Amino acid sequence: MIEIKNLKKVFDHNVVALEKFNLRIEDGQFIALLGPSGCGKSTTLNCLAGLLDPTEGTILFDGKDVTKTVPKDRNIGMVFQSYALYPHLSVLDNIAFPLKQKGVAKQERYMKARDVANKLQINHLLDRKPAQLSGGQQQRVALCRAIVKEPKILLLDEPMSNLDARLKIEIREVIKSIQQDLGVTTILVTHDQEEAMALADKIAILDGGEIQQYNTPDILYECPNNLFVANFMGNPPMNFIHATMLDSTHFSIGGIKLKCAMKLDTDLSGKQIKLGIRSHLMSFVFEKDEDHPLSMQVRIVENLGKELLVYGTVGNDGLRISYPDKSRYGLLKALAKDKGYVYLELGRRYNVFEILGGRNCVLF
Ligand code: ATP
Repeated sequence: MIEIKNLKKVFDHNVVALEKFNLRIEDGQFIALLGPSGCGKSTTLNCLAGLLDPTEGTILFDGKDVTKTVPKDRNIGMVFQSYALYPHLSVLDNIAFPLKQKGVAKQERYMKARDVANKLQINHLLDRKPAQLSGGQQQRVALCRAIVKEPKILLLDEPMSNLDARLKIEIREVIKSIQQDLGVTTILVTHDQEEAMALADKIAILDGGEIQQYNTPDILYECPNNLFVANFMGNPPMNFIHATMLDSTHFSIGGIKLKCAMKLDTDLSGKQIKLGIRSHLMSFVFEKDEDHPLSMQVRIVENLGKELLVYGTVGNDGLRISYPDKSRYGLLKALAKDKGYVYLELGRRYNVFEILGGRNCVLF
């Protein structure tokens, strides 16, 4: 198990990269550190690898304090965005390099290198130099080099960001499958929420050097702690509608009083809120009635093949709604052209964020 306790990292000129950083990772788990540029993802990874000294805090591997341990004694395999292969060495020697450093005999290290190259399907490239490889092939070599010494922990720092869309998917599959086969505890740094959702058992979302939420992709997607997490997760992004809480169980949107379907953990009476609703969890009807008093002006309709995506506005808020009944495409296109209205069905599962502070007040 990996435990990071109260980690703090301050760089020169008082740049606080990490603060009050706590994380627990069980053996064999695949974790993603997700967040915008500069939020402290790489700093966390480099502290775990021993490439950076934390200013405060402790890192434990299986209960043993490794905070001051040098990188080579941490039993870690690392893959970087830039591949970082040795240009003058062949692919075989690049892969075998960590074993050479450990003093493993030539025959054995080549045997192991060939073995992992076989797993990642690059055994036909072993005599080439890195410059003679494509980006995807170079990243496979870097992955082989990271796993050849059978590390206890695999650290991946944006390993797919230099690859085109097709190669990204290919390397994503390779990473998932070797992680499953080896069962190695893996930590991926990424700013791509889709990549994190696709790969990780649990995701830690970071902002400004602090963890905003650490949980499974499903929980982050459905029950975000705050507006930051809600904004970061999911495509299409979550819909937000400004409203005012009238009492503990009702809110108003543009003067229309509606019952809140969610139980809240605090009384927000009189406060400004944002309702956060996933595009597939809300809908609309075409005729106004007493259950559907809230209108949305239709702006654009996209046909996505399996469903329609309807763009509209409520006050100043732009919404996107997934609409499965494609037989209504013509009608919705006509409404969009005439800037006509539909009537919202907010659904039974949404989030209620305080505007001030952005906390999600729903009792899940
Ligand atoms: P990116 O996605 O852009 O790689 P990141 O989330 O990995 O970003 P870090 O590289 O961990 O972010 O940086 C966190 C903060 O620490 C940033 O404000 C960055 O400018 C700062 N920082 C990182 N390395 C150094 C350094 N060597 N000296 C000074 N400040 C640094």
